[in-house]
Order: sequence, then structure tokens, then C-alpha cells
Amino acid sequence: MIRIESVTKRYADGTVAVDDLTLDIPDGSITVLVGPSGCGKTTTLRMINRMIEPTGGRILLDGQDIHQQPVNALRRSMGYVIQNAGLFQHRTIVDNIATVPRMLGWDRGRARKRAMELMERVGLDAGLAKRYPYQLSGGQQQRVGVARALAADPPVLLMDEPFSAVDPIVRKGLQAELLRIQAELGKTIVFVTHDIDEAIKLGNMIAVMRTGGHLAQFAPPDELLSA
Ligand code: ADP
Ligand code: ADP
Repeated sequence: MIRIESVTKRYADGTVAVDDLTLDIPDGSITVLVGPSGCGKTTTLRMINRMIEPTGGRILLDGQDIHQQPVNALRRSMGYVIQNAGLFQHRTIVDNIATVPRMLGWDRGRARKRAMELMERVGLDAGLAKRYPYQLSGGQQQRVGVARALAADPPVLLMDEPFSAVDPIVRKGLQAELLRIQAELGKTIVFVTHDIDEAIKLGNMIAVMRTGGHLAQFAPPDELLSA
């Protein structure tokens, strides 16, 4: 379980992006952070893997303060997926997906085998393995991003607007795929979106954030109060 405890983030210029946020993210389910642009969703997500450090409060992973853990081990336990995938343009698809296993010291053959399994899991044709990212559609690139994040089998996936840049029909396919992967693998997923329909479709729990970095509601989709 990830526990966000009275967390505040004030940036150097004085902007308060997240204000006294407390949230328990349950294991093995999808928790969606939803709210308008600028309400602190990305800041919250990036504090979970310590790409951003809070200025107040603390974050616990299985009861342990993440600031007392080695940051590399923390990040290895958390796959990270962003909008536009952020793939390495000079690496093939299979090598993009194999990046983290390679960083962990797997030999090339084992890492590539793992990458090919992951391609199948996210619905990518094996024939795409030797291509470069620019040779794939936006939706295919997002699938690669998800496969890469899953490659070292981390218990946690952090996803920041992963499907926002693709067209609506492709997005529906990606959402269905994520639900299928979640049902099969049971990861703890923290998913950021500004789209309430996407939040309701994907979330087991939904954290509605408001401008100023406040938490307005935290509930399963069928118990959300209309605002
Ligand atoms: P969201 O993901 O909900 O769009 P963000 O977490 O990106 O929101 O940003 C929250 C607030 O913090 C916004 O007002 C944004 O402009 C501000 N912000 C984000 N990054 C920085 C930064 N590095 N320095 C100052 N302000 C920032
Ligand atoms: P390289 O060896 O090419 O420099 P990186 O260190 O950029 O590789 O990391 C490769 C991948 O590892 C990233 O694309 C991302 O999926 C994951 N990763 C790297 N840094 C982080 C981070 N701070 N949080 C989460 N995942 C990360």
C-alpha cells in the first residue's frame, strides 16, 4: 500500500502545487487522480517515485518512508508511463522494452526474450520488434511504453496521461488493454488523467483533485458525488 500522508509541495517560486494531501492507495487496484489542468496530479505522481521531493508530509510504501529507501530501488519497483511514451528514438522497439532488465544486469538474450513476451502481452505484433519508435503509430508507441514499464515486473505502475495524445478510438482500445493487463497481473496502478469519463472507466478508486492541490473526493466510481 502507498500512503500519502499530509503531503505538500511548494515549488521554489512559491506555487503550492499540492496542499496537505492524504491518500491511501490500495494494493492491486487502479487508483485514478483526476482534476483540471494544474491541480497537482503530475506533482503528486512524481513524488511517489521521488522525481519530485515534497516540502511537507511523507509518503509510505508498505509502511516504510520512501525517503529512507535507496531511490534506485524505489524506482525499480515502479514502472513509469507518460504521454507520448518517451521512447528512446535511437533504440529499436525490442531494445526499448528491454532497457530496464538490461540496467538490472540481465544478459541481452534474456532481456530480449522478456521484451518479446511483453510485446505479445500488450497486443503488439512481433514483427514490430526491429522497428524504431518513429515507425510506429502513436497508439503502438503507447503500448511500447506500457510494455517497457512492465519489463522488470514492478509491483507498481505510475501512469501520467498515458492515453491522452491518441485519438478516441485508439484510446478505447488502450483502456480496454490496460484493464485486461490489470486483471491478469494485479499491479498497483496510479493513473493520472484530466478526463472524468476515463477516470470512471478505469478507476477502482478515484481521487478528485481541485485547483490548489486539494483533495475534493476519494471514492469508488459508483459513489462519486457530482460536483
Ligand atoms: P497537473 O498535473 O494537475 O496539471 P501539475 O502537478 O503539473 O498539475 O502542476 C501543479 C501546479 O504546480 C501548477 O500550477 C503548475 O503550474 C505548478 N508547477 C508545476 N511544476 C512547477 C515547477 N517546476 N515550478 C513551479 N511551479 C510548478
Ligand atoms: P538509459 O540507460 O538509457 O539512460 P534511463 O536511466 O533513462 O535509461 O531509464 C530507462 C527507463 O527506466 C526509463 O525510460 C523509465 O522507464 C525508467 N526510469 C528511469 N528513470 C525513472 C524514474 N525516475 N522513475 C521511473 N522510471 C524511471
